[in-house]
Amino acid sequence: ADSVVWFRRDLRVRDQPIFLAAADSGPAALALFVLDPALLDPSGPARRTFLYGCLRALDDALGGRLLVVRGDPADVVPRVAAAVGAGTVHVAADFGPYGTRRDQAVEEALAVDGRELVRTGSPYAVAPGRVTKDDGDPFRVFTPFRRTWSRQRRRGPADTSAATVRWIDPSDEGSGPRAVRIPDDEPLDAALPDPGEDAAHRQWKAFLSDAVDRYGEDRNRPDVEGTSRMSVYLKWGCIHPRTMLHDLSRHRSGSAETYRTELAWREFYADVLFRRPDSARHNYDRAFDALPSASGKRADELFAAWREGRTGFPIVDAGMRQLRAQAWMHNRLRMIVASFLVKDLHLPWWWGARHFMQLLVDGDLASNQHGWQWTAGSGTDPAPYFRIFNPVTQGERFDPDGDYVRRFVPELADVPGRAVHQPWKLPDGVPDGYPQPIVDHRAERDEALARYERVKAAR
Ligand code: FAD
Repeated sequence: ADSVVWFRRDLRVRDQPIFLAAADSGPAALALFVLDPALLDPSGPARRTFLYGCLRALDDALGGRLLVVRGDPADVVPRVAAAVGAGTVHVAADFGPYGTRRDQAVEEALAVDGRELVRTGSPYAVAPGRVTKDDGDPFRVFTPFRRTWSRQRRRGPADTSAATVRWIDPSDEGSGPRAVRIPDDEPLDAALPDPGEDAAHRQWKAFLSDAVDRYGEDRNRPDVEGTSRMSVYLKWGCIHPRTMLHDLSRHRSGSAETYRTELAWREFYADVLFRRPDSARHNYDRAFDALPSASGKRADELFAAWREGRTGFPIVDAGMRQLRAQAWMHNRLRMIVASFLVKDLHLPWWWGARHFMQLLVDGDLASNQHGWQWTAGSGTDPAPYFRIFNPVTQGERFDPDGDYVRRFVPELADVPGRAVHQPWKLPDGVPDGYPQPIVDHRAERDEALARYERVKAAR
C-alpha cells in the first residue's frame, strides 16, 4: 500500500533514510508536514519564520507535493493516512519530551485503524539511549560519553533524493484534512540565514573549504567568523550530522577533531534529555534546588536590563544585542551572558533559557537547557560553580581589539581598542547613552559564592 512520509525535524531530501523505508513499503507516498500549535506557539518568530522558509524549500524539492496541515498530529496524521489509504506512516524518531509523547499518541490513534507508525533513524548520528557504560548505565559526564560515542558503528549517509519516492499529488486527495498555505514570514528585527537544504550545504561546503582547519583556534573568537553557523540547519535537519561526520573524515587536522567533539556535545545533551526529561525544567543536579535566587521588583529590573543589553558591561550587552540582531549568539557569548545572569544577577537559569528559546533561530531544548545548566553549575558535567566569569577579562581575552563590542554596541563605536571593555575608566567617563554597570562584579561574585554554600550544605 501507499504510505505517508511525515517530516518533522528532517527537512531535506538527501541522506534521508525514511525515503528508503517508504520506497520499500509501497509504490507511492504522501509527503506531510503538520503545523502543530503546541510546538509553534512557544517557538518565537525567528524560529517559525526560518521553519516556513525550510518548508518552502522542501516543497520545491518535492515538486510542490508537500501537504501542509495545521492541527494536533494525533488527530491530523491518522486522517491523512486514512485519506490516502496508507498502511504506514514513516518518521525519523523524536527523542525530546514533547515529541516522545506526541508520537506515542499518534501511534495509538493510527493503531485503531490497524495502521503503523514506523520510526527510521533520528536527528542524531547515534540515537539517544544507545550510548551506555559497560553496565548499561547512561553517562553523566561528557568525555567518556564521547569516547564511547566515537566508537559506535555508524552507517554512512543514505543515498537518497526527491526521486527516491514517487510522491502522491496532495490535491488529488479530497477527503483528508484541509491543506493550508505555508505561512508568510513574520515581522522580525533579526536578519536570518537562508533557509533550506541547499543553503545548509552551501554553508557547510564554505566552512569545509576554509574555516574548518582554523576552527580549533578561531572558535572562541566572536570577533572573527570562526564557527560553522550550522546549528540552525542541524536544528531543522536541513542536513544530517551523519553527512557532516562523513565529510569531516577527509579532514585529519586537530581542528576537525575539535569540530567532531562539538557535534558530540549536541548528541550528548540529546541523550541526557532523553534519559532525564525532567532536566528541561529542573536542575539536573537537584542539590542546586537549594540555591537561593533573586526575586521581586529589583530582580525584574535586572532581568530587563540583561534582556535589552543594557547592563553596562560591554561584552554582555554586545552578546544580548547580537541575539536580537541575528537571532543567534556566538557560543562564547552564550556562556558569558548566561554566567552573568546566574552569578552576577543571581537570577534563575530558566529565566534566561526561556528568553533564549524565544529569540534563538537555532533554539533547541536539549542544547539550550543543558548549555544553561552547564554554565549555572547544575548540569551534567561538574562545571565548577566557583569558576565565575569576569566579564571584563572575558571581553579582553576573546575580543582583544574590541571589534565585536563596537559592532553591536553603537554607543561605544568611538572607543578605540580594548578600552571598550571598561568604559567607566575612560578619561571622559562612560559615553552618552551607554549605562553605568548595573552591579559591582566583585561584590556579586562574593555573593554568588556565599549562596553556593547552601548547595554544598544540601549535598
Ligand atoms: P560551531 O562552533 O560551528 O559548532 C558546530 C556544531 O556543534 C553546532 O552547530 C552545534 O550543533 C554543536 N555544538 C557546538 N557547541 C555545542 C554545545 N555547547 N552544546 C551542544 N551542541 C554544540 N546550541 C543549539 O544548537 N541550540 C541552542 O538552543 C543552544 N543554546 C545554548 C545555550 C547556552 C547557554 C550555551 C552555553 C550554549 C548553547 N548552544 C546551543 C550551544 C552552542 O552555543 C551553539 O550550538 C553554537 O553557538 C552554534 O553556532 P555554530 O553552529 O556556529 O557552532
